[in-house]
Order: sequence, then structure tokens, then C-alpha cells
Amino acid sequence: MFAGLENEPRSYEKHPGAIAAIARKLKAGRSTGYANEPHYVDGVETFRCPLCRDDGRVFVWHPDSMAVVADLLRRGEPVGLGVPLLPSVVACICGRGEQFRGRMATYNERQWLPLGGATHDEDERQKLVDFMLGYRQRNPAQQNMGF
Ligand SMILES: [Zn+2]
Repeated sequence: MFAGLENEPRSYEKHPGAIAAIARKLKAGRSTGYANEPHYVDGVETFRCPLCRDDGRVFVWHPDSMAVVADLLRRGEPVGLGVPLLPSVVACICGRGEQFRGRMATYNERQWLPLGGATHDEDERQKLVDFMLGYRQRNPAQQNMGF
């Protein structure tokens, strides 16, 4: 819970106080030391890695959902909002992602499409449709995902 950044309280009763201390730091805009905490340059929120925002993981469309979209496109059917599509997560290619590699797939731009919003967001779904339309051209030897 504290990721080694705060001294973890020894007794359960002291946890609320420790959490409140972290919350006060966040509210005051001071550093909590968390890796994915944004940095500000000229008032603009920045991250060392814009892809994972320094978290080490990238939210992407789930491969099963990519397959569903590819199948609908192949059959010439629309990808309506009623089609359930799910997110997944992959390890980032930056240094922060190293800790997740081997436990999950690693991001690459030919194979994965980052999900920048909700799965039912129309713009995000359109990006997925566009991505899947070019998928085979980018991944001619990619047969293991079934599309
Ligand atoms: Zn990253």
C-alpha cells in the first residue's frame, strides 16, 4: 500500500492516520514519491514516459475485443456501441515497464492500441476500427492472435 515511500504503521489502528497524511500531501500538491506522479513544466503536466505516464503499464484494447472487431469488419458489419469490448494491460517499453515484463505482454505499436478513454467511448472505438483495418498490413506474420 505504501510502496516503501512511507513508513508502514505497525498496528492496524494507525493506518487511517497514515493514509490521511498521504492525502494531506496530495492535497497540498507536495510530492508523495509515487512513480506515476506527474511533473509540471511551465504548468503543464508531463511524464517521463507519455505512453504509460510513468506507471510501467499501458492500457490497451483486449486481444479478444480486437478479434471481435476484426471479425465484424471481415463480415462487413458495424461495430456498434452494443458490442461489448474490453480493455487489457501490457508492460510498457520504458524502464518502468521492466518490472512487468514476463508477467504480461510487452507493448509494441504494431500490435497494440493504447486505450485513452472508456471502452464505450465512440472516438476510442473508431480508433480501434481504424487500427484493425491496418492490422494485417502491419503484422503479416502475426497468426497467433487469430486475426
Ligand atoms: Zn512507459
